Amino acid sequence: MYKSVFLRNRPFASRLYHSSGQLKSLAKGNVKTKSVLEVARALQPGTKLHGYTVEKVEDVPELFLTTVSLNHDRTGAKHLHVAREDNNNVFSVAFRTTPMDSTGVPHILEHTVLCGSKKFPVRDPFFKMLNRSLATFMNALTASDWTMYPFSTQNRQDYNNLLSIYLDAVFYPQLRELDFSQEGWRLEHENLQDDNSPINFKGVVYNEMKGVFSNQQNIFAEAVQNKLLPNHTYGVVSGGDPEYIPDLTWEHLKNFHKTHYHPSNARFFTYGNFPLEDHLQYINENYLSQFSKIEADTAVPAEPRWTSPKEASVTCQPDTMAPDPDKQTTVAVNFLLSDITDIEEGTTLNIISNLLTDGETSPFYQALLEANIGSDYSPVIGYNGYTKESSFSVGLQGIHKDDVDKVKQIISETIDKVIEEGFEQSRIDALLHRIELGTKHQTSNFGLGLVMSVASMWNHDGDASEMLRVNNQMELFKKKLQNDPKYLQKKVKEYFKDNSHRLTLVMSPEEEFEEKRRAKEQEKLQNCIQNLSAQDKTKIFQLGQELQETQNRTEDLTCLPCIKLSEIDKEIKLEPTEQTEFDGIPVQYSAQPTNEVTYIKMVSFLDQVPMEMKVYVPLFTNVITKMGAGIYDFKELSHQAELYTGGLSAGTLVSQDPTDPLDFDQGVVFSSYCLERNFDKTLDLWTEIFDRSNLRDSNRLQTLIKMSAADLAASLSNAGHNYAMMHSASSLTPASQLSEMFDGVSQVSVMKRIAELEDNSKIMEHLIELGHEILNKNNLKLCINATPDFMPTALEKVEQFIETLHSDRKPEHHFVKRHTTHVTKFVATSQKTQIELPFSVNYMSKSIKTVPYTHVDFASLRILSRLLSWKFLHREIREKGGAYGGGANCTNGVMSFFSYRDPNSMETLEVFDRSIQWAANGDFTDTDVEEAKITVFQQTDKPVPPGQIGSTLFLNNISDGMRQEARNQLFSVTKENVIEAAQRYLLPDNRPSSLSFLGPENADVAGNKEWKVIKG
Ligand SMILES: [Zn+2]
Repeated sequence: MYKSVFLRNRPFASRLYHSSGQLKSLAKGNVKTKSVLEVARALQPGTKLHGYTVEKVEDVPELFLTTVSLNHDRTGAKHLHVAREDNNNVFSVAFRTTPMDSTGVPHILEHTVLCGSKKFPVRDPFFKMLNRSLATFMNALTASDWTMYPFSTQNRQDYNNLLSIYLDAVFYPQLRELDFSQEGWRLEHENLQDDNSPINFKGVVYNEMKGVFSNQQNIFAEAVQNKLLPNHTYGVVSGGDPEYIPDLTWEHLKNFHKTHYHPSNARFFTYGNFPLEDHLQYINENYLSQFSKIEADTAVPAEPRWTSPKEASVTCQPDTMAPDPDKQTTVAVNFLLSDITDIEEGTTLNIISNLLTDGETSPFYQALLEANIGSDYSPVIGYNGYTKESSFSVGLQGIHKDDVDKVKQIISETIDKVIEEGFEQSRIDALLHRIELGTKHQTSNFGLGLVMSVASMWNHDGDASEMLRVNNQMELFKKKLQNDPKYLQKKVKEYFKDNSHRLTLVMSPEEEFEEKRRAKEQEKLQNCIQNLSAQDKTKIFQLGQELQETQNRTEDLTCLPCIKLSEIDKEIKLEPTEQTEFDGIPVQYSAQPTNEVTYIKMVSFLDQVPMEMKVYVPLFTNVITKMGAGIYDFKELSHQAELYTGGLSAGTLVSQDPTDPLDFDQGVVFSSYCLERNFDKTLDLWTEIFDRSNLRDSNRLQTLIKMSAADLAASLSNAGHNYAMMHSASSLTPASQLSEMFDGVSQVSVMKRIAELEDNSKIMEHLIELGHEILNKNNLKLCINATPDFMPTALEKVEQFIETLHSDRKPEHHFVKRHTTHVTKFVATSQKTQIELPFSVNYMSKSIKTVPYTHVDFASLRILSRLLSWKFLHREIREKGGAYGGGANCTNGVMSFFSYRDPNSMETLEVFDRSIQWAANGDFTDTDVEEAKITVFQQTDKPVPPGQIGSTLFLNNISDGMRQEARNQLFSVTKENVIEAAQRYLLPDNRPSSLSFLGPENADVAGNKEWKVIKG
């Protein structure tokens, strides 16, 4: 979650082609003598700078950046600087970490180095900096073969503060035995005061990884990698297999640090408009100059190639939420491809993989998904460039166990067909269009995207700056295609047909999976305990108490740097918008430096939709842009969308009114973006969908239903805390009740039931009926973001678009401009619910009804939620309780407490209550309140990309005026205000509050009449 995202193979190896904002506006208004690009360009290869030598300087005009590659003379540390007129600066240091066992040593080390260092000898300075910084991103990540420590911030002082913390952490961590046992694993008495109480395994990573492997998709993804690349580091679990984590010793951890966290094994990355020389000087003087070169033995050899294909199988826990219990087998065929440092070959294979699997017109989509024998693609799908040699996977999940051979046959026939027929030119064009649009579409953290996109390739000494030259790679690719029209077919033959390094992996559910896992854990535990001497036992007892003591100790944090409230802007960043209307339809627009991309959002309000129909709205949004419309069947519609847009998407909207707790907006949001030259075409596609959508294709509908149901079922264990909070909030406000229906665990069950239906004709009728309301222009409002030059044209086209849209408005129909739903009768109730699921950990939550956004106490509650999270819940739930995370969330109208991947259940509910008591007693300092404020500003001040300016007003009805007022209140909140808020809203027993949790069968809840148990 916040710390230590354990990165697994993501389904799509997207090289990030996104670019981010403020370019033109900054470049234009910039009166500095030299731009950051000019400074970077002036550097010559061979130039010496603060102990470094410049190796290469390259311009990448399509991304508005210049790269400088350097080498540190004394240690051989590599440094890549990306100069760009973007004030959201990024720093990252990464090490090649290639473990040879599954004890999770790189992952546990990643956690432990953040527990205190030479200059900052306090417990967990990393976490404490979260309260003392305006970082737009702070994290540490463990992948299969690297560990990375990145952050980003827009504030120069903050950048320097974080830089000092990060560098000291990685090069001079304390790595105390206590930190190892807290973050890694330990044996601990159930009752810390009683040395006769049972002993258990505990530890943050230990529990985190148990959570990771509660998820079938993670089990599958890990097995694909372990078995396709078995010979070296990819054959083991870098995050740690709970079965082997207890084999790791503190000594081994320290040794791994010595050999891997060395400058000679490090790659530094800096990005943005802060001067490179300052970075280099600081890093060299304070750290690198104190080291000399070592030969780091971390290189990964090429996997010995197989002479014949292999097959393997794994088992997983049965999924009780799966639509069809008999169809729970997953199969994928996986191919080992080329070395990722070969950029040209990688680009080609990435493009081929996209053409093979991506979108409704792709050969595998048509052959596998339309066969309707599985629920969706296998969890690992397409190109994967996260290992030294890339791979490609394709397969299905949710199939019958007897259909494995059928899937394999379809895959091999599809490959044959592609080799025979090739790809249609217009599909290649669509992909190239998507890449072009991707370079122009602006996201909020461009620099971070860059470092993530080059991390794996650079990690194996590939040319990172070359990888950023998108246009160059595309030109090379196009040339190859021109020279040889059969180029792609030949590559498909080489890598897919003639490639014997191919693994077919089958995963099937096993009834006793969880039981066996528990038995193994017990056996391991008993083995550990049996081997303990009396002395060891005393040590365990003492360690437990010592850990508790350090966790409870109040520390002197004055050594940690901190951003001052006085350094934070008093004014909000304005989001200027203008309003007009066409044919009675409200249109909001905002002229922005969008790089020639035009953004459109439309909300269709649901206030006229009958209550009993609403449960089908999420399904409606999942299918409406994917079913075909007018002259386009669904394949052609998807193809058109790829040729002309960045995608046509639809989703639900529930937005609590900022002033009235009983008011909220409910709707469907349609959105898309496109190059200016394609705006006409984009609007045409929306016209087709609105006026001539085709929901009557039963086979297609069935495919989409199965995919949605499978996605939802899989999301439960990854986002369990969100599901728990949504459920506990649902009894408190009308808006939360609707959110639960749309996005909560009840929607997961509804979709499961729908997917189980033999005949979907009733569902189809419901969707068509919903279409009459939702695809009706009377219920619409629109929002456009475009460049100032294009805006007049954009508005003209939008006016035409609205005119042509079908309307059933009768002459006497009074047009309703405000669609806000006002509920007159709603009684908030207190409930206790368990959603029982076959997990090995819990996701706990408690929600309490509070006040809306503009209420005078809202600022205090917001600060209170941060204070509870950082100063109480983190310590009690994560450090002491051994859960992966926990905290409090303040949303418009409701405060929710949560825990994530939590070994405890009822104990955590007690922690929630104790935290409230703690806050109401005022057991915190003024400094704590200041720090909590900083974390709120961290959230509110995240950069907004130009395409999203005005969204808060458009979707949430929160105006610039309200945001400024809220900001003023945040600044003025005192400790007294926070205490009062805790006493007024959280403490009283008579205020409506609800408890909900997701987790395994629970003895405390079973048979307890206060609790309702829903079997998932
Ligand atoms: Zn972790």
